[in-house]
Amino acid sequence: MIEISGLSKTFGSGANAFTALDDINVEIRQNEFFTLLGPSGCGKTTLLRSIAGFVDPTKGSLTIEGQDVLPLPPYARPVNTVFQNYALFPHMTVAQNIGFGLEMQDRPKAEIKQTVGEMLELVQMTAMADRMTSQISGGQQQRVALARALAPRPKVLLLDEPLSALDFKLRKEMQIELKRLQSETGITFVFVTHDQEEALTMSDRIAVMSAGRILQIGGPKDIYDHPAERFVADFIGDTNFLDATLQSVDGDVATVTLPSGKSVAARAVQGGSQSGAVTLAVRPEHATLTKESGLLDGVLQNIVYFGTDTHYHVTLDAGSAFVVREQNQPNAGELCEVGDTVGISFEAGVGQVLRD
Ligand code: ADP
Ligand code: MG
Repeated sequence: MIEISGLSKTFGSGANAFTALDDINVEIRQNEFFTLLGPSGCGKTTLLRSIAGFVDPTKGSLTIEGQDVLPLPPYARPVNTVFQNYALFPHMTVAQNIGFGLEMQDRPKAEIKQTVGEMLELVQMTAMADRMTSQISGGQQQRVALARALAPRPKVLLLDEPLSALDFKLRKEMQIELKRLQSETGITFVFVTHDQEEALTMSDRIAVMSAGRILQIGGPKDIYDHPAERFVADFIGDTNFLDATLQSVDGDVATVTLPSGKSVAARAVQGGSQSGAVTLAVRPEHATLTKESGLLDGVLQNIVYFGTDTHYHVTLDAGSAFVVREQNQPNAGELCEVGDTVGISFEAGVGQVLRD
């Protein structure tokens, strides 16, 4: 649907030159809920605005359904954008806002009326059709902004942190709502967020960005379970990092030696080294704590109770810290006490070797 290759954007020139996008390569599929995820300033908005036509890339190509769109102005591209601040017209009603894009396209009156009716229903705002947009709540404004962007039936909808202005509860509701709208309309969504949980819960695929580059692209489970780089493992969820020695690689399986001297099978990374010093990432919930010696040994420093789970902070014999997260069971006794010598184990394959 959207093919981006070798795309770069440098703002300014000479000593003031700043590269906001650095060799972006990505293919976004039809009907996909695709998310650009990364911290503030990593280039998400610049990439979205390049697709929309508001930013002129310095290098690279960008096609939508095989058509080179770089020479086209924003209005001539088969995309529509929902901006962070909604940008609704306050002096118009809800229905007039939704119909605005269609009016601009000089569509017949009857068609506009019908489409606006359908869009009002889709975002569950039919009862508010004649209200001024200045007289509705933030969540309702969000829904109107979405309906307005969807009304001309764009092939692609670009959404730049559309939920960030909403409070927690409404944001959770709108996440489900947006996902429903996307699957009902079949429109390809390119969604921008800095919120890893939002990305994991809503997306078909995620591109994790840092400093103008895409570090990894994959499904939520793939990105979470198999982060390829330290930044990705760190930015999404919590992770323990272990200095390990890579003994051998056989396809997807790497054999590593841990700081304790014990060896374990882990998941290899594509494009990484085949031997030598590596970093191994292990999720806290993928490890278990025992009173006996484990793959790693250490001393229990702290126990933090979270209701659904408990976090055990261990100082390993090698000196580094490691957190184990155990799901709480009703009526379970205390596993270990602070000061205990404990073992930490995890199954073969759950550790992920990171690209250096
Ligand atoms: P994000 O949306 O991920 O927060 P942006 O794409 O807005 O990041 O910005 C990426 C980087 O590019 C930032 O460092 C920002 O300051 C810079 N930048 C964005 N737009 C411009 C511009 N018009 N001129 C100069 N620098 C810009
Ligand atoms: Mg932004």
